[in-house]
Amino acid sequence: MSLTLDTTARKAEHAQMFIDGGWTAAGAGGSFPTVDPNTGETIAQVPRGDSADVDKAVAAAKRVAVDWQFTDALGRAALLRALAEKVTENADELARLEALDSGHYLAKAQELVGAIPIWLDYFASIADKVGGRTIEVPGNKLSFTLLEPLGVTAHIIPWNYPLLIMVRSTAPALAFGNTVVVKPAEDTSLSALKFAELVKEAGFPDGVFNVVTGYGAEAGAALAAHPDVAGITFTGSTETGKQISKLAADHVAQVTLELGGKSPTVVYPDADLDEAVEVAVQGFCSHTGQVCVAGTRLFVHADVKDEFLGKLTARLDQTKVGDGFADGTQMGPLVSKKQFDRVNSYIELGKSEATLFYGGGRPAGTPEGGYFVEPTVFTDVDNSSRIAKEEIFGPVASVHPWSTEDELVAAVNDSIYGLFAVLLGKDITTLLSTARRLQVGGVMINDWFGELPMTPHGGHKQSGTGRDEGLEAVHNYTQVKHVAINLDPLRAATDWAGAPL
Ligand code: ADP
Repeated sequence: MSLTLDTTARKAEHAQMFIDGGWTAAGAGGSFPTVDPNTGETIAQVPRGDSADVDKAVAAAKRVAVDWQFTDALGRAALLRALAEKVTENADELARLEALDSGHYLAKAQELVGAIPIWLDYFASIADKVGGRTIEVPGNKLSFTLLEPLGVTAHIIPWNYPLLIMVRSTAPALAFGNTVVVKPAEDTSLSALKFAELVKEAGFPDGVFNVVTGYGAEAGAALAAHPDVAGITFTGSTETGKQISKLAADHVAQVTLELGGKSPTVVYPDADLDEAVEVAVQGFCSHTGQVCVAGTRLFVHADVKDEFLGKLTARLDQTKVGDGFADGTQMGPLVSKKQFDRVNSYIELGKSEATLFYGGGRPAGTPEGGYFVEPTVFTDVDNSSRIAKEEIFGPVASVHPWSTEDELVAAVNDSIYGLFAVLLGKDITTLLSTARRLQVGGVMINDWFGELPMTPHGGHKQSGTGRDEGLEAVHNYTQVKHVAINLDPLRAATDWAGAPL
């Protein structure tokens, strides 16, 4: 049954799973509440899918995998475009669901949903433009490769950007002829279920796209471990990524991981400090710091540190934290009680490891039951302290003054993570020199991160493997078949002694 949202009551109805083109409760009948992080109130009950539900979804996806593979690429692209239109028609409801379930403030959720058709269109456009290659080989032979889909792909989604992260991996998977089973995060399943409704309305065949809701350790682990799943895309914490890799290894599934980060925002002495502050605040406060690329380590050149901190204070004083549905809100709540407790425990730890420079408490005037925290900044932070090393996933930054490029590069690279870096300055030679030396998967110069479907995104070191988005994403959802044709008459059997094998 379709999902309906009552924005005034902040409730959703009929949150069922989507398997083989139909709506269903969990086979074992269980459910769990999903909560509005602005108030702590329940929005809806979500089915608690388990391994039996995963088996059903994977079986459906497997049954139709070959038909979907041989639906021509233009046909698959047309369906993705029809889906993009459906998303546009339903953008308001999708944005409200996303805001209610994940804590994005409404204007941001609207912007995010508005971008979804761009992802669908991009992968629709390249569905028929990627292929294999011909290879020069000795002798009168024709040798070439085919790029073929993997088959059934699993998509295990985090709670910070539920819709966007689901679309950025499922769109290329579908475009290149794979079938899909999505496991949304338990805190934020609703937009995936609404999206599934639109997939059906757009005309995708039953079984090509499935959503199993449930807990990570139950439905998520069962999906990653399923022997008929050929590819797994996971975005989330590094710890969970390692567990999923181990489950995938048992059945040799291909894995794409976009994991944690402790990304630097670097301010050079010649940077425009007003702009630098703006980017730095975006970096660690955007979506209340619950962003994999969050710029939570502020490397500010010693010559401008005091001026930067003065401007940072003034800017943070103006940041409006509150209910995501209230006018003018720029920073909503953390997603869940679990995340609220986790971030607050890091703030307490920071008070013992460093100097609390800004924030650290509950923002004045925010609703009692909601999971709100102030933007928080620590100074006098040792690069080896836990708040400098560990991913907090909240609006918490540490300030690290630096003097030489060598010192800067050594400190930034002294991390298990290597996801992303922002560099803010004017001297292009210095900026590009640092960009080459940092061990990260992406660098943005004089701007905050802007995710796009055409640019590859992913991490070095323990920030992940493989790249979402861009033409690079083709590799996540295809495998190579080599085909060779001998164009000469077959040699006599006695001739085979001359062959290398
Ligand atoms: P968090 O710990 O903050 O919930 P995770 O990175 O663990 O963040 O969660 C991201 C996604 O991974 C969610 O969909 C979650 O259900 C799923 N997940 C969590 N644990 C596992 C697991 N052991 N196996 C498969 N999926 C999991």
